[in-house]
Parts: sequence; C-alpha cells; structure tokens
Amino acid sequence: METKLLYLEDFTRLTCDAKIVGIPREMPENDSHTYTMRSHGICMDVLILNQTVFYPQGGGQPYDTGVIESPAGKFVVEEVRMADNIVRHIGHFEHGAFAEGKRVECRVDAERRLLHSRIHSAGHLVDWAVAELKPVWTPDPRGYHYPNGPYVTYTGSLQGEDKEKLKNDIEEVCSRRIAAGEEVSIRFMNQEEMKKISRSIPDLPDGKPGRVIMFGRAFDVSPPRRNPEKFSTLARASRGSLNFPMKQCFIPCGGTHIRNLSEIRGLTIRKIKQEGANIRIGYDVAS
Ligand SMILES: [Zn+2]
Repeated sequence: METKLLYLEDFTRLTCDAKIVGIPREMPENDSHTYTMRSHGICMDVLILNQTVFYPQGGGQPYDTGVIESPAGKFVVEEVRMADNIVRHIGHFEHGAFAEGKRVECRVDAERRLLHSRIHSAGHLVDWAVAELKPVWTPDPRGYHYPNGPYVTYTGSLQGEDKEKLKNDIEEVCSRRIAAGEEVSIRFMNQEEMKKISRSIPDLPDGKPGRVIMFGRAFDVSPPRRNPEKFSTLARASRGSLNFPMKQCFIPCGGTHIRNLSEIRGLTIRKIKQEGANIRIGYDVAS
C-alpha cells in the first residue's frame, strides 16, 4: 500500500496521526542505504504508516527526522526513505514498541525541516533569477539543496561572462523578491499544463497530476479549457524576459518549501563555475 504523502498538499504541516501498516524486518533490495547500514553492522527498526508528514530523502532535499509516539512507545526517526511509493521511517525505539494496526502520532523536527525548506526554496529562487537573466541556460533538475554547499545546475557556457557581475545581478534579483515577501503556493496539474508554464518538466506517470510550486503573487491558475485567456497570460508571464520581469515562477517539485520567500531572510551566491557542459551556481541562505 502506497504511503499517503501529506506534505505534498501542505508542506507546512509537521504533525499527523497515522496507522501502523508494517514493521518490516527485511528491506527491499533497492533500498541501498539500509543495506549500507546493515553491512556496517548497524541494526535499525523500520516503520511503515498509512500516511506521513515526514519528508523522505529525494529531489535534492535531505530527509526529515523526528518522533513517532503512542501510549505504547516512542520511536525516534533518524532517517526517512521512499522506495516503491512506500515511505520507510528508519530509527529506533526509545521505549516500548508498536503493533500493526495501531494508531500513532508523528512529529517532524521543526528546526531541521525549516532549514531544509529555506534552502530548497532559495535554490528555486536562484533559478527564478537565472530564468530572467540567462533565459538560454537550460535548468538541470538535479539541484542539491543540502546545508553543506547547496547549488543549482544548468546546461550552458560561461564563456565571455562577467561572473562577478552575474553574481551581483542574481543576488540583487533574489534580495528584491525576499524583501517583497513573495508568496509560495501549490498547484496540481498534468504534464501538458506544466509544459505551458515551466521551463523544466519531470517525467510523470501518464494521467497522474504533478505538483507545481508557485512563487509570486497568487491568483487563479485554471486549466486552459476553463479559463483560456488568463492561462495564456500566465504562461507568457512565467517565461519572462530581460525587459519583462517574471511575476511568477512555476516549479514542478515534490519537496518542502517555506510559505513566504521573506523566510529566506538573505541569499548570497557562493560561486559560479563551469563543469564540463554544465554551469553550477552555489548559494547560501542567511544563518
Ligand atoms: Zn524543488
């Protein structure tokens, strides 16, 4: 049974109740990380729930930690992974134990999640600035939004670029949007709709709507059939140009984000460098 991912619809939610659907003793073969732990002789317990607020590692964002509790026991979540659409909460019992079918309460470590969400949103904020300043660079969806040196990557060339000027320009655009307190909201849409408003589209299973994160002043994003005029205006606005700042930015993304870009507080560009056919832009958020 697939785990229901509550953070997809509300990334600010940090608690939920859930039902234990499995306490597996054997990990699936494609769960390489747990195999690594086992090969090092580390024994961890695993809990599978019907739904969760815990973010499993992926999409360039690290996993959440926290606790899962009930009157019967307390489980410390040290790592969260997803394989075959099933989230595995990996950790140890501080006391007691759980049984299948019983109800538990999940609580995500708020401080760690907030840091990850700020860094993740900041990566997409950099991308929003790059989309305007360097529209010919193609974004590579493999961003790295970890606290130890986050970056975003593009296909393109730095030849003839004034890197210092570019660094200042990106910082300036980002600072303006942080100061403006641009909103972050969620839309669900199919791939065809995504193609109209986003530069980079992930592979999605046919017919399954994907989640799009929207930065910028929120207004109705209706599918074309229902509201063609507004949608095409929106599609144009989302592409932007040097002389026409993008009012919104749309990002197909399954990660967690902050609710408002002001929560990033400050963003600096650490480094811009060429790596083969790719350009890597390292950034940091205010501590
Ligand atoms: Zn993302």
